[in-house]
Formats: sequence, C-alpha cells, structure tokens
Amino acid sequence: MGNSFFGKCRQYTLTDKFVQNGCYPYFQPIDSAAAGEVTVRGRNLLMMGSNSYLGLHHDPRVIKAAVAATRRYGTGCAGSRFLNGSLDLHEELEQALAELVGKQACLVFSTGYQANVGVIAALVCRGEYAVIDKLDHASIIDGCRLSQGTMVRFRHNDTASLARALTRTGQANSLVIVDGVFSMEGDVVDLPSVVDLAQRHGAAVMVDEAHALGVLHESGAGTARHFDLTSRVDLIMGTFSKSLASNGGFVAGDAGVIHYIKHHARSLIFSTSLSPASAAAALAALRIMKDEPERIEALWRNREFLARELIRMGFDIGRSATPILPLHLGQMETVAQAWKHLRERGMFVNVVVPPAVPPNDCLIRCSVTATHTKEQLCQALEAFEGVSKELAALSRGPDCAGIHPA
Ligand code: PMP
Repeated sequence: MGNSFFGKCRQYTLTDKFVQNGCYPYFQPIDSAAAGEVTVRGRNLLMMGSNSYLGLHHDPRVIKAAVAATRRYGTGCAGSRFLNGSLDLHEELEQALAELVGKQACLVFSTGYQANVGVIAALVCRGEYAVIDKLDHASIIDGCRLSQGTMVRFRHNDTASLARALTRTGQANSLVIVDGVFSMEGDVVDLPSVVDLAQRHGAAVMVDEAHALGVLHESGAGTARHFDLTSRVDLIMGTFSKSLASNGGFVAGDAGVIHYIKHHARSLIFSTSLSPASAAAALAALRIMKDEPERIEALWRNREFLARELIRMGFDIGRSATPILPLHLGQMETVAQAWKHLRERGMFVNVVVPPAVPPNDCLIRCSVTATHTKEQLCQALEAFEGVSKELAALSRGPDCAGIHPA
C-alpha cells in the first residue's frame, strides 16, 4: 500500500553520485559559528557563503537584545499577529523600518518568504496580473501561484521585454515585482526604467530589497533610495535574514495598503508571529546599521577587492555589481568538483544549480561581508586560485572541455 505513491522518492537518484564522490554540498551541518568562520563536523572553515552582509549575526549588542527580549516576552508568541501574537516590539520595529525605507507604514512577517507570498496573494486578484522578472526570487513566484491573478514573466532586467508584457496586460491592473539585487547573479535592477514603464502603463511597483538592505545607499535603505525613487515605488519588501542579522520579513507602503494587507495576507493571519528574539535582534541590527555607516563602507571595500582579484584570476562573475559574487562555471559536475576543491582548502561556499539558475549556468555563489578581514579575503583568494588551476587542468581532459572559468 502506498508503494507506487512513493515511487518518485525511490527514483530520485540525482544526488547519489555527488554523495558517492564526496561533493554533495547541501545541508552541511554547522556545529559552531563566529564572524566569518564556522566549524562543520569539527573542521574550521572560512565562511564565504553567508548573507550576513554587515557581519552583525554575532554582534554582542544584537545577541544581548535577543536574550533580553526572550526574558521579557518568552521564547515565542504562541499566536498570530491577528490574535494574541502582536507585541509592542513588533510595532516598534515596524515604525523603525517605515522610517528607514521612507514609507508611511510597515508590516512585519515571520519570514521574508511569507512576506512575499502573503503580500502578492493578498493583492493580485482575479483578472489582475503580477508581472515579474524571470530571475525574481522563488517566494515571489510562489506568491503569484497562490494569488487568483495571472503571472506574466519578462526577460531578466530587460526593459523591452517588460514593455511588451505591460502592453499585453493592459492598464491599471498589474503589479510589477522585481528584486532590487538579484540573489544569485548579484546584479542590480534597472529601477528607473521599471518605474517609468510601470507609470506609463498605470501599473504598481513592488521591490524585494532582501539583498539590497544594508548594501545599497549610504543608509542601507536599499534600491529605491539608491535610485532616489522611493516615492515612485509603491511597496518595499525586505527580510531580516541577511544584513539585519535575524529572521523575519516586512512590507512597507501607504498606510491604507498596509492596512488592507494586514487583513488579507494569509501567511500573516494563519501563522505564529515573529519571535520576540528575532524582532529584538532585527531592531538592534537596524540601529547599529544607522549608527555605524562605516560598516557599509567596509562592505563595499571588501567587495571591490575580492571582485577585482577574482576577475584578475579569470573567473567570470557575470553581471555582479554587489557583494554577491557568483563564479559562473557551467555544468553541475564542474561546480560540484570546484566545491569539493574549495572545501578541501577550508572554504564554505554555496553551490547553485537549476531551478535557481538556468541549466548550464551553474555557479559557486560567494558573498563578502563587512567584517571579513584582509587576511580572510587573501586566504579565500588563495583557495580560488588553486581551484582555478585545478579546473584548467580538468578542462584539458576529454570529458570536461571548456569548463575553465576564463
Ligand atoms: N527574497 C529574496 C530575494 C531572497 O533572497 C530571500 C531569501 N533568500 C527571500 C526573499 C526570503 O527571505 P527569508 O529568508 O527571510 O524567508
């Protein structure tokens, strides 16, 4: 009974050869972590795959705030925002975020994923359209799938393709949704063009600032502020899971729109609210970001250094213009081999394969933070250089022609 139902699980063998060859890179259990370093099964590794752009996940002030909130409110809220799970702390955080991104109101969710899913499904109704970039985050796609409206995708960061999509969808019934910084490519959205086109077609605009918060603009407010377009972007969404050293997500916009979302977003209403520790950690990180703008400067210095050296070594970092530095290596097998060599050299990096990226454009995703030291970056570069040589040797073999990153 049920045997044939689970046949698909038994037939799922894609990962087997990677496990057998010692190059399965996922679900690596970290047994301890500090700024820029982790241990995996007791082995020290340099963390070059974290989204902690401002390096605040281990800041004693953030940890202290999380502990104090746990003592004051307990370990969880035991209910949704809608019923018994709203804290004054959530409202304080919402006010601080609204101020940061320059919007009237803000609503905090338990994760960034839930924010996207809840907001999009609540807003895009039957007969309406969600017009999204092909490389938008999965949570945006899932929000579209859960909505009653129709999802229309345009080519990545391609204004002509967006224009065609908006001509098809018609006037005043579309929400254009874009990532501010694309999570795998590390490139920045052409927001001025997106906003112009949307305005011309009477469409609303939502920007996912997950990887732009704490990165773009001297305040860390993200893409909309970076392009001085805050007033022309209707909804700004973000997460606490990266620069803000916590868990959770938010959406900010006009008070009336946020009020509507508050009463329609199912991922908010039917899920327990953000934990006190997470809310307090995000608020503490937000304050540090505001008080210590030098962190964002350090982040960009580190980014420029690493990017320049990677390019010099011949790596293809594609369109990256941010601290996300993808090494485009091509085939899944090549990336798995590169990951194995990097791990042997003491590095923790991420392997990205379809569906997160197109087939044959698999990549090693590295990310740099404000708190990486020069010594750590040099250690990383030494490892990358070694891998570059190994890949070059491999590419001369019969099975892997053309895989060298140059
Ligand atoms: N949007 C983007 C662009 C992301 O990269 C992510 C997470 N990686 C999310 C949304 C979801 O955020 P969270 O991790 O807070 O659920």
